[in-house]
Amino acid sequence: MFKKAKAMEFPREVVAGHNVIEDVGGMAKRFGLGKMAMIISGKYTVKLAGERVAQVLEDSGFDVVIVETGEATKENLNQLIEDGREVSPSFVLGVGGGSKIDLSKMVSLDLDVPFISIPTSAAHDGIASPRASIKNANGSVSMEARVPFAVVADTGIIVKAPHRFLASGCADVISNQTALLDWELAHRLRNEEISTSSYTLAKYSSDFIIEHATEIKPNLEESVWRVIKPIIISGIAMGVAGSTRPASGSEHMFSHALDIIAPGRALHGEQCGIGTIMMMYLHGGDWKAIKQALKTIGAPTTASELGVSREQVIEALTMAHTIRPERYTILGDSGITEDAAENLAETTGVI
Ligand SMILES: [Zn+2]
Repeated sequence: MFKKAKAMEFPREVVAGHNVIEDVGGMAKRFGLGKMAMIISGKYTVKLAGERVAQVLEDSGFDVVIVETGEATKENLNQLIEDGREVSPSFVLGVGGGSKIDLSKMVSLDLDVPFISIPTSAAHDGIASPRASIKNANGSVSMEARVPFAVVADTGIIVKAPHRFLASGCADVISNQTALLDWELAHRLRNEEISTSSYTLAKYSSDFIIEHATEIKPNLEESVWRVIKPIIISGIAMGVAGSTRPASGSEHMFSHALDIIAPGRALHGEQCGIGTIMMMYLHGGDWKAIKQALKTIGAPTTASELGVSREQVIEALTMAHTIRPERYTILGDSGITEDAAENLAETTGVI
């Protein structure tokens, strides 16, 4: 008897390109999102885009409250939820970098209202994903969150963020390469089900960025235009799978281990990119091509570029398999030995 069933969550509308921020009011009206808008933004991003979004919404007849916040921590989240209950918005807009988007995803879930994602940088592939990364005392946790109702990715705004952020977002998508190999391995060894549609989307977005690495340059809006779609699609691949599996494997576990061992040194995507070089080596794949693509894009490929020590890389490698034991990867159940980790990091030139 056939008993399979599955839910997939997608954004209703994704707009990307020059000056699309001006469309927000029309979009909110078209979808009948109600009258009261709450904008969650940051200290800098509010000036860069938050205030403009507020103006556009007010011009379209909406009431707007802007709430400024900081990092994606449990404390800030609780404060925002409290603010949100007071404001009682009919929809939420996250205007800022990854942390503001992640906070908005969680706030809108709590308030049970739609949320529009307006990224001011593209430092990771969570722009349209169903998960949010929230920091607590023990590093960060990936939480079930709300998929954005709509995504408004203004390339004219995103290009103003430091190139490092875009390079990090690309590295995060490049990391799908090893995440997918891990998924295949889990399928062969554990009979874990693979969603072919999700796999294909995640692979396409990652291959696209590697193939177009030479076109990804600083301060060039065309570069943002090139990569913003694959970065968003990588998040949508997670929505199709209903989990982060297509975009998060052993290389992400390495990054999460680094978050615990050496917190706050580098960006998520930067760490995952370096994790991908090393995990690709373990898979017996073309790790040199991964390293070359990261270099070309301007993402770090060595421990010193990440700002972490040789010892910290080795420790993170040996610890990585403990991060998410239920997710089977190339690291297996017992992980990598210290000697092998040292060899791996040396051979790939990470240390
Ligand atoms: Zn990631």
